[in-house]
Amino acid sequence: MRVLVLGAGFGGLELITRLSAELGDDADIVLIDKADGFVFGFSKLDVMFGRTVPGAVRHLYRDLVKPGVRFVQSTIRSIDPVRRRVETDAGPFQGDVLVVALGADLDPAATPGLVAAGREFYTVDGAFAARDVLSSFAGGRVVIGVTSTPFKCPPAPSETALMLHDFLVDRGLRGASEISLVMPLGAPIPPSPAASAALLAAFAERGITWHPETLVRGLDAERRVAVLADGQEMPFDLFLGVPVHRVPEVVAESGMCVDGWIPVDPLTLETAYQDVYAVGDVTSVGTPKAGVFSERQASVVADQLIARLGRGAGAAYDGKGICYIEFGRDRVARVEVTFLAGQRPNGQFDEPSGRLLADKAEFGTSRVRRWFNRDWRSY
Ligand SMILES: Cc1cc2nc3c(=O)[nH]c(=O)nc-3n(C[C@H](O)[C@H](O)[C@H](O)COP(=O)(O)OP(=O)(O)OC[C@H]3O[C@@H](n4cnc5c(N)ncnc54)[C@H](O)[C@@H]3O)c2cc1C
Repeated sequence: MRVLVLGAGFGGLELITRLSAELGDDADIVLIDKADGFVFGFSKLDVMFGRTVPGAVRHLYRDLVKPGVRFVQSTIRSIDPVRRRVETDAGPFQGDVLVVALGADLDPAATPGLVAAGREFYTVDGAFAARDVLSSFAGGRVVIGVTSTPFKCPPAPSETALMLHDFLVDRGLRGASEISLVMPLGAPIPPSPAASAALLAAFAERGITWHPETLVRGLDAERRVAVLADGQEMPFDLFLGVPVHRVPEVVAESGMCVDGWIPVDPLTLETAYQDVYAVGDVTSVGTPKAGVFSERQASVVADQLIARLGRGAGAAYDGKGICYIEFGRDRVARVEVTFLAGQRPNGQFDEPSGRLLADKAEFGTSRVRRWFNRDWRSY
């Protein structure tokens, strides 16, 4: 059974790791990604705020040596889900099983004025470039704004506001600055009222202004104001934006999407096409767009493929995920949340602590160990 895995992000890496570990040399896996390495979402914020350097957070795919796995660095140009065949710059590939794990692409140009007058910090390049902008920032009005829904890692804009506060305090610039956070959600983390209350209290303590239930529709580059969906205008000296998210173009053109994302069976991650699965941010499975959910979905697909080969019992997706939230000053909180179709999501919150900072570090290092077989210190 040849398994063709498109995308070596959270989902793709977990899937090939599980399959290779279970099947060894019996595995026949081709993993395709256009990038040369993987960067955790949280590492983007660490680079942006000068906690680490770009070279330390990119995990190169050339280190991905696993039994039964062949990595191909190439751009996928077309996907035929009926024939489970893709065209890439390195030629065509076909699988008995196809797994689409291509994530969500970001489109800063879709928001008027964002490229000309603002900074997006959600792509790897954008976050790394924001590091230079921040290091020469002399203080002023900073607006952190979300431009559309859905967006990856809903806590990340809140974390950015808290980390920015510490960054400006450390440089003696906080007194000369204002921080405003514009979010489409009614609460920072809707499934967890306790986490939301802790974040709102942290914003209030630090003088961060919170603007819920609205979006940034565009920036007026000349007047340097952000225009919100509710018509309000917010002047800024620095705008840090979460850009519009959409499926990669190659996925949009494959005909697999409904309302912009790939629909899947919420228990099995099967698409409408025979032997084609999709996991993670590229789907409309109903969980937030975050790596922990992509990873767990990939693990369920791995269980099903292993079961097909008579080596296990299979499993159904349970919608569970653990999310670490940076509060700054070496304190991290945790939310454990379950999203199940037809049920209200519920979350369990653990207060910020130094112990959870260590847990978060282990979250990163344990994955690098499993996926890339090497040691990494995330802090
Ligand atoms: C600032 C920030 C902080 C975050 N913090 C967290 C966190 O703390 N915890 C968490 O769980 N999540 C976090 N996330 C979210 C997380 O990064 C994503 O949700 C996760 O990476 C999605 O996994 P995925 O496997 O679905 O897709 P991705 O990891 O995005 O992988 C998709 C892969 O497909 C490849 N690809 C796309 N198009 C093509 C093509 N045409 N040809 C070839 N290859 C292609 C890409 O190069 C990429 O490697 C954060 C995100 C951001 C932006």
